[in-house]
Amino acid sequence: MTTERKDAARATAADASRRHYSRSATSVGPKRKPSKAATSRVSAIVQALENWYGLPEAGRIDPIDLLVQTILSQNTSDLNSGRAFSALRSAFPDNLGLLEAPLERIAQLIRPGGLGDMKAARIRSALERIEEDFGRVDLSCLADMPLSQARQYLIGLPGVGPKTAAVVLLFAFGKPTMPVDTHVHRLCRRLGLVPEKASVQRTQELMEAVTPPGKYLSLHLNLIRHGRRFCRARSPNCDECPIRALCPYPEMAASGQKD
Ligand code: SF4
Repeated sequence: MTTERKDAARATAADASRRHYSRSATSVGPKRKPSKAATSRVSAIVQALENWYGLPEAGRIDPIDLLVQTILSQNTSDLNSGRAFSALRSAFPDNLGLLEAPLERIAQLIRPGGLGDMKAARIRSALERIEEDFGRVDLSCLADMPLSQARQYLIGLPGVGPKTAAVVLLFAFGKPTMPVDTHVHRLCRRLGLVPEKASVQRTQELMEAVTPPGKYLSLHLNLIRHGRRFCRARSPNCDECPIRALCPYPEMAASGQKD
């Protein structure tokens, strides 16, 4: 592509983003249909990311495992939380055994992931509540619940917030939800998919409304990959970014509209 054509493509991305941005703030939401411009912009980004990173594959993961993993991942690195989860599951491979395990033992096993006492108590409370509600430590009945009902149930569990609930619903059941971690939040704002000041919660609502059916997992995972590889929090590598033509950030940064 010539320099002039690249510049034209970037200008188009910035214009499209501004249209999307202004409409997003008013017309996109969980109860309203998103604009055509918004959905086609997201579709183009999904496709461009898949072209670069591939189509992510994720087999269904046990929802209790996911719940425990996401509680363990709070305020620590993936490496540390992965170690804590492996240690916990090696000692207590089945859910009932985990529910009945001494709290101090759980805290000791997960301590490498940080906040061992607090996370052990959260895991225990969540598993107890599930057992009380369903008669066993099993969340498979969420598969048949509507998204909003399943989400409400999970958020009502001790230690479970909207992100943890979205992770469980997306990865265990393939429900159309968008977990928003730090990478997804940053990229959605830089790409102009949500307003600059959108909270994590609002970003989740807006992205759930505009993501094409069947692309929630792909977009979520590829945004994280892209955030780690090119679009880092400090000094994003816009010059080599494979989706730069779809991103308004470099032009807005150059004109002083972004930090
Ligand atoms: S690296 Fe730059 S061009 Fe690429 S998505 Fe991030 S802000 Fe946009």
